[in-house]
Amino acid sequence: MLAVKNYKFWFCTGSQDLYGEECLKNVAEHSRIMVEKLNASGILPYEVVLKPTLITNELIRRTFNEANTDEECAGVITWMHTFSPAKSWILGLQEYRKPLLHLHTQFNEELPYDTIDMDFMNENQSAHGDREYGHIVSRMGIERKVVVGHWSDPAVIGRIASWMRTAVGVVESSHIRVMRIADNMRNVAVTEGDKVEAQIKFGWEVDAYPVNDIIESVQAVSESDTNALLDEYYDRYEILLEGRDPEEFRRHAAVQAQIEIGFERFLEEKNYQAIVTHFGDLGALKQLPGLAIQRLMEKGYGFGAEGDWKVAAMVRLMKVMTAGMKDAKGTSMLEDYTYNFTKGKEGILEAHMLEICPSIADGPIAIRCKPLSMGDREDPARLVFTSKEGKGIAVSLIDLGTRFRLIINDVECHKTERPMPALPVATNFWTPQPDLGTGAEAWILAGGAHHTAFTYDLTAEQMGDWAAAMGIEAVYIDKDTKIRDFKRDLMVGEIFYRNR
Ligand code: MN
Repeated sequence: MLAVKNYKFWFCTGSQDLYGEECLKNVAEHSRIMVEKLNASGILPYEVVLKPTLITNELIRRTFNEANTDEECAGVITWMHTFSPAKSWILGLQEYRKPLLHLHTQFNEELPYDTIDMDFMNENQSAHGDREYGHIVSRMGIERKVVVGHWSDPAVIGRIASWMRTAVGVVESSHIRVMRIADNMRNVAVTEGDKVEAQIKFGWEVDAYPVNDIIESVQAVSESDTNALLDEYYDRYEILLEGRDPEEFRRHAAVQAQIEIGFERFLEEKNYQAIVTHFGDLGALKQLPGLAIQRLMEKGYGFGAEGDWKVAAMVRLMKVMTAGMKDAKGTSMLEDYTYNFTKGKEGILEAHMLEICPSIADGPIAIRCKPLSMGDREDPARLVFTSKEGKGIAVSLIDLGTRFRLIINDVECHKTERPMPALPVATNFWTPQPDLGTGAEAWILAGGAHHTAFTYDLTAEQMGDWAAAMGIEAVYIDKDTKIRDFKRDLMVGEIFYRNR
């Protein structure tokens, strides 16, 4: 897996000196205990770091600016233990540029019925201090997440954990570099887009390389390196000869092994984390990169087919957001291919020519070697499997000409009713929420693409929060979607985002 930095999140407690030294001592002690317990919970994917209690304009401003420049800091968690007059926060917030979480909690869980007095009330007044702070963040129009509840509640910690992954996506977005070794497929609209605007909005760098440059890197891979990787393929995957000569089959798989190594070296050397190919622009490559791209995706690279750099960047982004997740079920590019319209069994068969990430596979993975009508090359080797069952999200980022829109669809993945032995590609099969008819209708009304970035491991909320942080529109298609309301969502977005 391509490495993601060891990010940390700062915990900043707000207070003021109105209530005396004793109170401030307790505030700091409470925050210390909370940070310690949060880190010990085992739920958070990244460490929380306690910062000194913020009580003055100068300290608040300095702390936020330090957070901006600290490369390991991926966001700040704020909480007002007591009342903290919010004008003190204006300059700091104005200059702060990273993700912000407002944790609306308090140290004690229950009212201390027998002992509560006015001293206690003055020391433990988040209910009141957090409203003052929340007001200024709203007034300043700053994007932030608000999480409410007792800090020891696993559900609350879970929401912090989920936000942390979004925050890492926000911070890491500007480190995504997409290598295009082919242009957009001729005449295709939805995979196009404004790459300059994408860099302004998301920080993505999208660069073109002549296909021959990467082919040189492929051709430079030694036979022994290729054979070593080929042995790994043969150890790890089933080999489905299907009547082919074993030697000939091995030579076909070797072409993919050489491509995998050559591509990876070229990407590493030039510092790219995502790649785009096109079956119509393969230069001297002997096969369309299939198995090779599938394995690169599994290692954490983003990928988009037919020049689709937006999907390549989104797949990389979602792999970054799920990095290190225990029991992750996988993230891949997919394509809406064909439907099952049988009543009660409706769904979309998801696949691509070849390039589906094996991280989403369920059960055995096999190598097959089959002709490909497109691309005019020899029969490419590819990994074939079916995918896991369960909930996931399919995401499409589209360029509407004047702005971007992110479409997020909750989907339910299942097995197809029967196997499809004649189909030589990896597949997933899902029913979009709320049902195939409404889901596909909403998707089409929103202008969603046929290529998607798909994952089992993130939620619509996380991707919507990412979009909000990027300042773009997000629309949700889920169990609550009704077409009439959805059309109104699109109209509201049209007005709100028109001039942004
Ligand atoms: Mn395609």
